[in-house]
Amino acid sequence: MFSDLTERLHIREQQGLKRHRAVTEGPQSTHVVIDDRVYLSFCSNDYLGLANHPELIQAACQGAQHYGVGAGASHLINGHSVAHHTLERALAKFTGFPAALLFSTGYMANMGVITALAGRNDVIFADKLNHASLNEAALLSRAKLIRYPHCDTVALERRLAASGSGGKLVITDAVFSMDGDIAPIRPLIRLCEQYDAMLLLDDAHGFGVLGGKGRGTLFSPAAETRHSPRVIYMATLGKAAGVFGAFVAAADEVIETLIQTAKSYIYTTASPPLLAHTLLKSLERIENDSWRRDKLYQLIELLKAKLQPLKWRLMPSDTPIQPLVIGEAREAVHVSNALKEKGILVPAIRQPTVPRGTARLRISLSVAHEEADILRLADELHEIAAGDDVYG
Ligand SMILES: *Cc1c(COP(=O)(O)O)cnc(C)c1O
Repeated sequence: MFSDLTERLHIREQQGLKRHRAVTEGPQSTHVVIDDRVYLSFCSNDYLGLANHPELIQAACQGAQHYGVGAGASHLINGHSVAHHTLERALAKFTGFPAALLFSTGYMANMGVITALAGRNDVIFADKLNHASLNEAALLSRAKLIRYPHCDTVALERRLAASGSGGKLVITDAVFSMDGDIAPIRPLIRLCEQYDAMLLLDDAHGFGVLGGKGRGTLFSPAAETRHSPRVIYMATLGKAAGVFGAFVAAADEVIETLIQTAKSYIYTTASPPLLAHTLLKSLERIENDSWRRDKLYQLIELLKAKLQPLKWRLMPSDTPIQPLVIGEAREAVHVSNALKEKGILVPAIRQPTVPRGTARLRISLSVAHEEADILRLADELHEIAAGDDVYG
């Protein structure tokens, strides 16, 4: 087994698929320091610029003073503090669901929901481009897993109609993490009602960004839907919310079922209450700072306009995730490296994260970017595209 590891790592390296971790210094921001050099970064999911916000830092310090640094136990023993409880109530109210439950991470939330609700006799219907955590959870649940072509509700309906008895659960990213496009929420809810299925919406990238006051994709014009008791809404708190963690919002019966049976909720230490305390402050900023979303959307439009003449195409996306498709993994890495030499960080995303032949630069924008940052990125991309060395 051990010699196999060496061999496989070597192959990975040869194929240009070996990944490296950049060691950053200082806080997450549009400018990060790596190896003593300052880079302009388009990498983070800190869409609203809250990860390093002074009010949140102050709340974290107060939270530590008040609650200490560790929860000390799981939620069902005695790690569930008033900070967690208050945040759950606030999140339920904010997203318009009867109840909400905090998880330590989005990955664990997806694991918990899917394995608690679906088992051997059930069927899970999953969009082909779903996040890895949804796929892994579906496999772990032992339910029958049926994948449908990306956002194809006609194909999904065929599969729903053909499936026999057993519970049905449809799982999908609300905003697709590597493409930036939005799931067809309204038709999905309609299909789930028609075929007696539940719908798990993973809004890791929509919460805080889309919908009035940043309430998430269910409140965006793309969805603009009434809530259905069939909808289970999951969002992370480490992206636009700028902190850490995740929550699930749903009908009381769903939340109570998760408290009783979701293993990734029960058998793990509660997240530090100071984080929940900080997230209450984050929620205030999300709800009240509409200017953050307004500015973000101006930056997105500016980027689209400036990259329009490039030979590489931006994927159709109206979210802060703006993927520029390059094609081959090696070439995407080459463009990413060329930008890095110019002091700009944009990650190259390759298989297996995205389908082979669609390697891309995943440009993510934050309200903390300035127009000048966008112009600089566009100029450098045009220069790289014009150079012969790209195909070398
Ligand atoms: C980031 C992400 C997750 C995982 O959330 P974490 O809180 O980072 O564990 C789940 N689903 C999607 C779509 C994501 O982008």
